[in-house]
Amino acid sequence: ENSSEKHSISRDDIVVGRILGEGFFGEVHDGVYKSPSGERIHVAVKTCKECSAEVKEKFLSEADLMKNLDHPHIVSLIGVIGVAPVWIVMELLEHGELGSYLVEEQYTLTTATLTLYCLQICKALAYLEGLNMVHRDIAVRNVLVASPDCVKLGDFGLSRYIDEQEYYKASVSRLPIKWMAPESINFRRFTTASDVWMFGVCVWEMFSMAQQPFFWLENGQVINQLELGVRLPKPQQCPPHVYSLLSRCWSYEPNSRPTFSQLVCLLSDLHSMELEQDGR
Ligand code: ATP
Repeated sequence: ENSSEKHSISRDDIVVGRILGEGFFGEVHDGVYKSPSGERIHVAVKTCKECSAEVKEKFLSEADLMKNLDHPHIVSLIGVIGVAPVWIVMELLEHGELGSYLVEEQYTLTTATLTLYCLQICKALAYLEGLNMVHRDIAVRNVLVASPDCVKLGDFGLSRYIDEQEYYKASVSRLPIKWMAPESINFRRFTTASDVWMFGVCVWEMFSMAQQPFFWLENGQVINQLELGVRLPKPQQCPPHVYSLLSRCWSYEPNSRPTFSQLVCLLSDLHSMELEQDGR
């Protein structure tokens, strides 16, 4: 079946509920979608407030990218309603943003569980790496929690396909400086290797219970520090083995960083080790 058929849905099959949060383009609601097979699926409905033709195109570009993705740790797109009011309908992740979840559950989350979340997001990114897709905005604010042992990458607002050896040259000003690799800050250069750097920062956030990276610096000071070789310190809850992976993700030279598929193997071993330790 082709993807436009797969993702065309009727507004009549959706009941919209309460507001979950505010997105860049408009409110996000929860809701229930009745699928063609009669199944009732909990969904998140993204709306677009001032949806001129130009805004609509930007709003729907995220959904267009998501149509081609199918991974257990990437939020799945259910459908798009392209006529006003324009909606993007996605699977609902009941526990919301990982950032707030980390704060709420900070005294109950084990090191093994945090390592599992890192592994799951790393698998999602290894999948994107295989598709030559650069995410550009890997941070806990863009990870959603499906259940206490399942997280998913949930925001593709800045994602782009890139040709091999190529990179996406960003022009936007809404850039997450404190998460960005030096070459992204200096030259707006975004590659899978810069995603690896950002993934390292996202792992740092997880083990720091969603503290802001470099909260002690202004955006403008970050690049200086990075050039001097300064890196985020090891969070207290972060196992030394995990931190040594982060240090490799933060190699100044993009080619010296590990790939996501290498990181999946390494994190998977570390996760097994953590589980064994918890079991003792
Ligand atoms: P921004 O660009 O500022 O990140 P956005 O337009 O990408 O905004 P989101 O951050 O994806 O919007 O969504 C806004 C809020 O809606 C999120 O903080 C989250 O709480 C909620 N939300 C979004 N998608 C889902 C989902 N699939 N399941 C549950 N909650 C969701």
